[in-house]
Formats: sequence, structure tokens, C-alpha cells
Amino acid sequence: MVLTGPSGVGKDTILREVRKRRPGLYVSVSATTRAPRPGEVDGKDYRFLSIAEFEEWIATDNLLEWACYVGNYYGTPKTPVLERLAVGEPVVLEIEVQGALQVKNNFPAAMLVFIRPPSLAVLAERLRSRGTEAPEAIERRLARACEELALADRFDYQVVNDKLAAAVEAVERLLFEEIPDEPAGG
Ligand code: ADP
Ligand code: 5GP
Repeated sequence: MVLTGPSGVGKDTILREVRKRRPGLYVSVSATTRAPRPGEVDGKDYRFLSIAEFEEWIATDNLLEWACYVGNYYGTPKTPVLERLAVGEPVVLEIEVQGALQVKNNFPAAMLVFIRPPSLAVLAERLRSRGTEAPEAIERRLARACEELALADRFDYQVVNDKLAAAVEAVERLLFEEIPDEPAGG
């Protein structure tokens, strides 16, 4: 499963809740060239790489997908994902929209879920209240969000993250195969 959607929409928060309920669930640890936020741990939150290291990973085909997102590289290390898929274990990627579309092309069996904010105003407020980016970086992420929202229809399901508990339940239901007839959450 690929969970995608704009920065600040609540992808991390939803997955954290799903993992509390399904402790064994494997969520891929991405590589990035962005600087660690306070409290982020290398190897747990991300593999924090230099630009040269990341470009080496691209050149040696170490990444399942990758993208440039507001000035940094982000990508999914290939081997851990393929090893788990080979033994039939579910794998979750939490990635931005360009990378998610690469997965859709390369892994047609993947289920792609786009998380939507109730509104752009709510998204902006969530990004600001998270407090992890400077105002200018927040503006860049919001501008990107408008482009990303325009691509939402390309995904298999859309879940609105309004009330967190409902969004967590919708994602958990999709992951564990009670796939509804109607797109979850609207
Ligand atoms: P993402 O991983 O998509 O960038 P986060 O999970 O970091 O987003 O969430 C961004 C901010 O919004 C966080 O401060 C989080 O606590 C808050 N948040 C997430 N989901 C909700 C929700 N349903 N209602 C209110 N706040 C939320
Ligand atoms: P952040 O800097 O907030 O941690 O992440 C910025 C964006 O990059 C988020 O939308 C996040 O989902 C996305 N992202 C994280 N890891 C990856 C990855 O491996 N590949 C891609 N394409 N996007 C990622």
C-alpha cells in the first residue's frame, strides 16, 4: 500500500495510529537529503544521506522510486521492500505524489491511497501548528499541495483526514482487505 497526499495532511499521524493497532506492520524507512528535525533518528525516521550519497543510490539502482520535493531528495530503499513482498508480507510506503505515481506504474498490484485535507485552510493550519518548517518552507509545501491535490483522482482511494479516528479506521480497513464498494471517507 502507498499512502500519499500533501505534506501536513496527517500521513505520519495516521500511520502511527495504525501501527499501534497492528504492531507488526512493516512501514518502509525512506532515504532523504533533508536535515533531521529535532528528535528524528537516522535509520528509524529516515536514512539521512548527503546529496552525493543519494545520487550514488540513484546511480546504483538502490531505490524503488525517488523524487525531488521542495529542494530535497526523497526515495524508497528497494531491497527491504522487495524482500518482504517476496514472502507475501504487506508493505506500506508513505511518500509524496510523484513517487507514488512511479509506484503505480511499476507495481500495478499496489493499492494507492490519497489522503486529503478537509480544506486547504485546515492543511495550512496543520503545517503551521506542526512547527517543523520555517514560514517560507511552509509556503512552498502549500504551493506543492495545490498541484498534488489536482492529481488525487489518479489514485485508487481517497480518504479525508478530518476526524483522525475515522481516517485511521478507513486506512486500516483498506490495508487489511475489507475494501469498500465506495471510496473510503468520500
Ligand atoms: P504528514 O505526515 O502528512 O506531513 P503529519 O502526520 O505530520 O502530516 O500531520 C501534520 C500535523 O497535523 C501534525 O501536527 C498532526 O498532529 C496534525 N494532525 C494530523 N491529523 C490530524 C487530524 N485528523 N486532526 C487534527 N490535526 C491533525
Ligand atoms: P517530510 O520532509 O515532511 O518528512 O516529507 C516531505 C514529503 O516527502 C512528504 O509528503 C513525505 O510523504 C514525502 N516522502 C517521504 N519519504 C519519501 C520517499 O521515500 N519517496 C518519496 N517520493 N516521497 C517521500
